[in-house]
Amino acid sequence: MKKHNFSAGPSVLPQYTIEKTAEALLNFYGTGLSLMEVSHRDKEFMSVNTEAQQLFKELLNIPEGYHVLFLGGGASLQFAMVPFNLLNKKAAYLNTGVWAGKALKEAKGLGEVIEVASSKDANFNFIPKNYTVPADADYFHITTNNTIYGTEIHTDLDVNIPLVADMSSDIFSRPVDISKYALIYGGAQKNLAPAGLTFVIVREDILGKAERYIPTMLNYKTHIENDSMFNTPPVVPIFAALQTLKWMKEEGGVNEMYRRNVEKATLLYNEIDSSPMFKSTVANKEDRSIMNICFVMNDGFEEFEKEFLEFAKSKGMNGIKGHRSVGGFRASTYNALPKESVQALVDCMQEFRKMKNA
Ligand SMILES: *Cc1c(COP(=O)(O)O)cnc(C)c1O
Repeated sequence: MKKHNFSAGPSVLPQYTIEKTAEALLNFYGTGLSLMEVSHRDKEFMSVNTEAQQLFKELLNIPEGYHVLFLGGGASLQFAMVPFNLLNKKAAYLNTGVWAGKALKEAKGLGEVIEVASSKDANFNFIPKNYTVPADADYFHITTNNTIYGTEIHTDLDVNIPLVADMSSDIFSRPVDISKYALIYGGAQKNLAPAGLTFVIVREDILGKAERYIPTMLNYKTHIENDSMFNTPPVVPIFAALQTLKWMKEEGGVNEMYRRNVEKATLLYNEIDSSPMFKSTVANKEDRSIMNICFVMNDGFEEFEKEFLEFAKSKGMNGIKGHRSVGGFRASTYNALPKESVQALVDCMQEFRKMKNA
């Protein structure tokens, strides 16, 4: 039976990425050695690293003055690296979920933190909109896609201070005006590569202003100066990321990814909205994520939650159980998830509804 992978992360990757990486694990670029066994300083791997950086910049239209870094530590280490490098006195954070809250907590250890707005009291089911960003803060931090709650900031905000964004789960899902951001980071395991790789896009001119000692490995400058090769980088995930980048380019780039993602999300949201059996957990339609689609059993159908999960599983649906803090279901529809998988889930929802005469 065909498996449909709706997992939130690590998650579905293009078949191309998996095959090319499998080949390289057996014989890397004809060297007769495994990708796992070669030095990261060999010219073959150096060219992988350079090509991946270049293609990353090309696909996102990254302007001059920005660097792309490939690091370890996950997005979670960036929660600390950002304030270490950018926070002098005060930072502003938008609290839109668990990840945003974790980022905020790390900054608190290094300076004053203003929480400009929060949707916590509503279990993060919307994106706050009417708030003021303090003009004297060193930066404003947002989480553009809230993986757990299925909410997303779909536009690039205009703010007068450096804008920092955690884009772990929506990078490459839509065109982004990079020039609006001072720094963007994320774990690669949602939309790009296997776990172990963290990407950072940083505008050079925001660095060097923090008045503290920054440990070498936490200092963005270390990684800029060494082309992400200060220490051993995550070689296999970087190679896999390059394959995903090539795949995206071949498929038509970020604009095409966006078109497909909207199409997939619309298909599923339409079913959720029109079915008496299910309902969306997001309060405002405009805040709905196109990457993580959260829904629950509608009022009166709560008792069928477990049964639907089992039914969907028997039809090949993988990873649709919602995060424990939201419950219900979450279908992650990352770039590599084909439309056929979303259609299969919709069919499954309709079939279940018929079974229950709803
Ligand atoms: C998954 C996720 C993280 C955590 O990433 P790690 O790489 O596991 O540290 C942080 N932020 C968001 C938005 C995520 O989706």
